[in-house]
Amino acid sequence: MGLKTPEQFLQELTDLHLNIYLMGQKVDDYVNHPIIRPSINSMAMTYELALQPEYADLMTATSHITGRTINRFTHIHQSREDLAKKVKMQRLLGQKTGSCFQRCVGMDAINALYSVTYETDKARGTDYHERFKKYLVYLQDNDLVADGAMTDPKGDRSLAPHEQADPDVFVHVVEKRADGIVVRGAKAHQTGACNSHEVIVMPTVAMRPEDADFAVSFSCPANAEGIYYIYGRQSCDTRKLEDNTLDVGNARFGGQEALMVFDDVFVPWENVYLCGETEFSGALVERFAGFHRQSYGGCKVGVGDVLIGASALAADYNGVPKASHIKDKLIEMTHLNETLFSCGLACSYEGVEMPAGNYQIDMLLANVCKQNVTRFPYEIARLAEDIAGGLMVTMPAAQDLADEKIGPIVEKYLAGQCDVPTIDRMRVLRLIENLTLGTAAVGYRTESMHGAGSPQAQRIMIARQSNMEHKKALAKELAGVGKPWDPPKAAAPGGGAGPDDGEKAKGDAE
Ligand code: SF4
Ligand code: FE
Repeated sequence: MGLKTPEQFLQELTDLHLNIYLMGQKVDDYVNHPIIRPSINSMAMTYELALQPEYADLMTATSHITGRTINRFTHIHQSREDLAKKVKMQRLLGQKTGSCFQRCVGMDAINALYSVTYETDKARGTDYHERFKKYLVYLQDNDLVADGAMTDPKGDRSLAPHEQADPDVFVHVVEKRADGIVVRGAKAHQTGACNSHEVIVMPTVAMRPEDADFAVSFSCPANAEGIYYIYGRQSCDTRKLEDNTLDVGNARFGGQEALMVFDDVFVPWENVYLCGETEFSGALVERFAGFHRQSYGGCKVGVGDVLIGASALAADYNGVPKASHIKDKLIEMTHLNETLFSCGLACSYEGVEMPAGNYQIDMLLANVCKQNVTRFPYEIARLAEDIAGGLMVTMPAAQDLADEKIGPIVEKYLAGQCDVPTIDRMRVLRLIENLTLGTAAVGYRTESMHGAGSPQAQRIMIARQSNMEHKKALAKELAGVGKPWDPPKAAAPGGGAGPDDGEKAKGDAE
């Protein structure tokens, strides 16, 4: 099987019969649930664009294992160019959906596991890499979505996994059998969890030998027995229940997160990629996080493009596109957004070949990228709200606009520039509200802060990667630290020889 159509993806997702709970109820027809469906549409876009010839270069790649054409989301990066195309693909999808399209976590997981399994085998004589490659071909040939699941609930952050009062706050092995392992625990904030065929689990922190049961990585079907999902709420999500395309701001697309629970799930050995090799847990965490920090230099930039465009439209519709301060704010938003893109590209073009043969981003620049993402989207959102005006949060509802009696009044008083229909002005303001305060704000704002690791996680990596000794050596060299000192000649008595002194000295001589 080659690339799939969005319709095939939807049918397969339906057929998985995932165990999903939303607002206290089990949702059987999740594919058509109004709160969930927009996030499925975003995922479907990763299939739709891959079939369009104009996007084939970004959206597809050639498998280095089979030579077949695959969706880039299942690709192992083979060059710096591949790394850069990944970021450009993510920007494109952010532009098309105005939301998180969720498929990147699986892509980042397979790229991290590819090199870590190789290195684990070299050090420990295991055969994880070959197992993993077989699984990878299965993902590629069937164009599957894999959810990369890293973040454990973590319980008391001051304690190691094995010290927790309830060990289930970290996914761990509860039983080893001849044919596989049984795992228990949960993964939190799982982007795209209810949109995936497969789940790839990785540990979430570096571990010590006592944590061996927690140093586990594996894959399993998203509908494996014992897995269930508790869907995350988003700000303003119940507007989607209103049959109201106006007030949701972005009626077609959205993101999703869920709490993913493993209630004694069996995993055959062929799908286990780390089991007790605690010394490789940290590398897996760093590499997955590094790839996902690169990802944000693409996806957030694409969503930023939509927000900047919406802000410019709001200015147009308010009749102030020529105001100098508005133009300057749009310039500032663009500057910040393109700076993020530059970081995403920079860590790609400075990528390095790993011992396994795949390419990995420059870790320092990827962490700088994400550190900027924890700040710049907030400033872009602030400027968008500044330009939009207070109406974006005080507007009457769509039902008011539709009402026979008060509709014309809403129409009259919410009018802006005279040749723009009021409904269009309201649509754009609702889109800005959605991106800055509504359902899409999960992906654009708070996820910019905490997704792929909170700001402090990047600062630790920046400190580790900054090569401060090299910088000190540069400064020492230029300052001449440690070299013999040639002191200046002793100054003449009276403060040195000035012109007056010279004259005086000359006179004295006469
Ligand atoms: Fe992809 Fe961005 Fe969503 Fe992560 S936050 S899954 S990088 S779209
Ligand atoms: Fe994310």
